[in-house]
Amino acid sequence: MNYSNDLTTCKTCGGTISKNAGVCPHCGAHEPTWSQNKKRAFLVCIFLIIFISFVVILICVLGDNGAAPEKITLSEFNRIQTGMSYSEVCEIIGSKGELMSAVDLDIGYEYATQIYTWWGNGYEGSNANITFQGGKVVAKAQIGLE
Ligand SMILES: [Zn+2]
Repeated sequence: MNYSNDLTTCKTCGGTISKNAGVCPHCGAHEPTWSQNKKRAFLVCIFLIIFISFVVILICVLGDNGAAPEKITLSEFNRIQTGMSYSEVCEIIGSKGELMSAVDLDIGYEYATQIYTWWGNGYEGSNANITFQGGKVVAKAQIGLE
């Protein structure tokens, strides 16, 4: 077996070291297999990742404030009837809700179940859960709506 494939030279002192060495055993340089360009590229990548994350978070925060989904009220909740379609429910509430759970057993759409949550207008955490089966309301539950 030829181990020389695993060896390279330290970019700082020129000594022979393992490609996997984190620190050069000869001169103590960190990441001795990395050229300065690679180090710089790595730092630029890290900076870009942080910067992009920051921008994405900013967009999310601003987006949420700009278009807060309409919250469900108790009277809207009471108008939702068994057998209504998802789009009818969205129309009553005025927003699309959040899909919390979807179960599709692949035995036909009439057996596919989705549970949507709409945040309520009452206290923090108040909400309504509407269960759809085959696209129609089969159950509804609410907590804290006003
Ligand atoms: Zn070295």
